[in-house]
Amino acid sequence: MERPRITRIPLPSSLPMGGVNVFLYRGREALTLFDTGVLTDEAYAALEAGLAAEGVGVRDLERIVLTHHHFDHIGLLRRLAEASGAQTCGHPDTLECLRMTYQFDGAYREYYRALFREMGVPGEEIEMFIRGRERLRQYLDVYSVDRFLADGSVLDGFTVHHVPGHSPTDTLFLHASGDTIVGDHVLATVTPNPILRRPFAGRERVKTLVEYRESLTRTRSLPISWCHPGHGEGFGDASAVVDAILARQDRCCERILALLPAAGMTPYEAMRGLYPAPSPALMFFRLSVAAGHLEWLETLGKVRREQETGGASRYHAVSPEAKETP
Ligand SMILES: [Zn+2]
Repeated sequence: MERPRITRIPLPSSLPMGGVNVFLYRGREALTLFDTGVLTDEAYAALEAGLAAEGVGVRDLERIVLTHHHFDHIGLLRRLAEASGAQTCGHPDTLECLRMTYQFDGAYREYYRALFREMGVPGEEIEMFIRGRERLRQYLDVYSVDRFLADGSVLDGFTVHHVPGHSPTDTLFLHASGDTIVGDHVLATVTPNPILRRPFAGRERVKTLVEYRESLTRTRSLPISWCHPGHGEGFGDASAVVDAILARQDRCCERILALLPAAGMTPYEAMRGLYPAPSPALMFFRLSVAAGHLEWLETLGKVRREQETGGASRYHAVSPEAKETP
């Protein structure tokens, strides 16, 4: 099977995780760009240079495809789509997720206040998070998506797989050759974060790590020969990388169980146990790790959750004897 012509163009960003990859794909149907990087002039200039090295320009782009709706992957979408007239494609929930994640309105603030109270986060840290989060505004320039990509559909030689977990819109594009655009679903250099998120209207909040592990298990069975990731260099052995991610999660669960005091603990307390040195900038991501693993342990029946009168969730160890009692 002939491999697709995919070129990685790394774009700069000032994020803790460093640069963001976009990929130029010379498809049969369209000259395609997967993802668009962060909304900065430096990223735009780097993209123009990367395209020029391939003998094309922004104006030649015919299609832009999103791997998920996070701001470091959608930043230049409007600028690129308007400059090229390219068709924009993404997960059917992309626009709703953008609205829920980045529209900094009263409902947004109230949701995060309630969520963080449930996680046991102190009030001043909640307000610090909300103020810090709203600084993301500078990276947002929400644009439309012309074509929604259904799970199992085919786009110019790639089969579309919805793989929610890191985000609800995570989408993987598997070529018949095994070359796969994986976004942030599988990364070799960092463990993708099961980021806490708002539920869709009228729905329960998703247990993101539980959802992510289900997606990883499905991904592990796909015939992937090469991963083109959203961050870092490409890599070959997808199932080994998936196994390494699952193993790191298992070890994190063991650490949390070892930390659990008899009085139980909130996700915030678990976070402080896992990461003793505080970092306001990373609080939300670390809290997502702690909450995600506690929810996975609850799903396994190894901890049980109690809601305190103040609204915080407290997790208690389930002893093996107690589990056997009907
Ligand atoms: Zn992401």
